[in-house]
Amino acid sequence: MKTMRPFLIFCFCSLLVSISCVCFVTFYAPADTAVAKEGDFIRWVDFNVSYAALSDCLAYDVKTFGTDAHVSWIDLLAYLAAKGDGTFQSYKTSDLTRLTDELNKGTELSSLTKSLKSFPYYKEAYSAVLGGFVGEYEIETDTGTTEKKYGLKAFSPVAKGYAYSDFDDFGAGRSYGFKRKHLGHDMMGSVGTPVIAVESGYVECHGWNQYGGWRIGIRSFDKKRYYYYAHLRKDHPYNDMYEGKAVTAGDVIGYLGMTGYSTKENVNNINTPHLHWGMQLIFDESQKDAVSEIWIDLYAITKLLAKNRSAVYRPEGSNEWERRYQMFEPVTDAFSH
Ligand SMILES: [Zn+2]
Repeated sequence: MKTMRPFLIFCFCSLLVSISCVCFVTFYAPADTAVAKEGDFIRWVDFNVSYAALSDCLAYDVKTFGTDAHVSWIDLLAYLAAKGDGTFQSYKTSDLTRLTDELNKGTELSSLTKSLKSFPYYKEAYSAVLGGFVGEYEIETDTGTTEKKYGLKAFSPVAKGYAYSDFDDFGAGRSYGFKRKHLGHDMMGSVGTPVIAVESGYVECHGWNQYGGWRIGIRSFDKKRYYYYAHLRKDHPYNDMYEGKAVTAGDVIGYLGMTGYSTKENVNNINTPHLHWGMQLIFDESQKDAVSEIWIDLYAITKLLAKNRSAVYRPEGSNEWERRYQMFEPVTDAFSH
């Protein structure tokens, strides 16, 4: 059960005055029968995939990786969404089992999705949300060697060993400055808790914003996701951040705090210390800073990311916390050099 806390947490929301309830969705015809026209891009995504569906589909993807039976979790999720109504409210593990039984009998996924008109939409939408979360990577071990792995390579935004609490607060009302909706996810914790980069990418902005306080914006290397981390610690918000810096998923980027809600810099004006993190989807660059910004509900994703938390330590003589295990992934090598 999701429970609302008895206190109000004020935090940054997008600069949107309001978020339209109207969903403008462009449904693509299958790629082999149509060429997308210029200006044809997805304009809205309601990300309602449940934690159970994310977790089940990820497990199947990982289990089948490296075999002829491998199916991406994104394809599985898009199938389940298109087969149902996209809300995942009635999702059961048996829904996935029914699909994977069919696939194990040798049926091609493409033949099962042929009649599902919204499958291409969900596939593109979920690829935009989850495209950087799963893949091959190498990670350091305690003995100093590296180990090749496949699986979840995105991290929880809160470092391992640091407590936090959260609930589904996407869309809740906010009133600082103007009435608007909460377009992210709040994780309540202690001031100074190391904040972790969820996915690798480039630092696109950092510095003071009257809503978010000290904040960091990081764009995924494929440009489709913009990660926003806000209300960072007063006086010492960042761990060596600058615009254009390439960061790797799992890096310590800053520290949890309570800054924001002030036109004056470096002011603690948030009642409860917490990290606000948000994910904006960008299908077309015109959506980046526009009234048509697409932000998604991160409650289920945050729960999934709790499976992968970055261990940190503070090197002797340093004021900064650092990740304990370096990670190497092909996407970083391809884009950051
Ligand atoms: Zn927030």
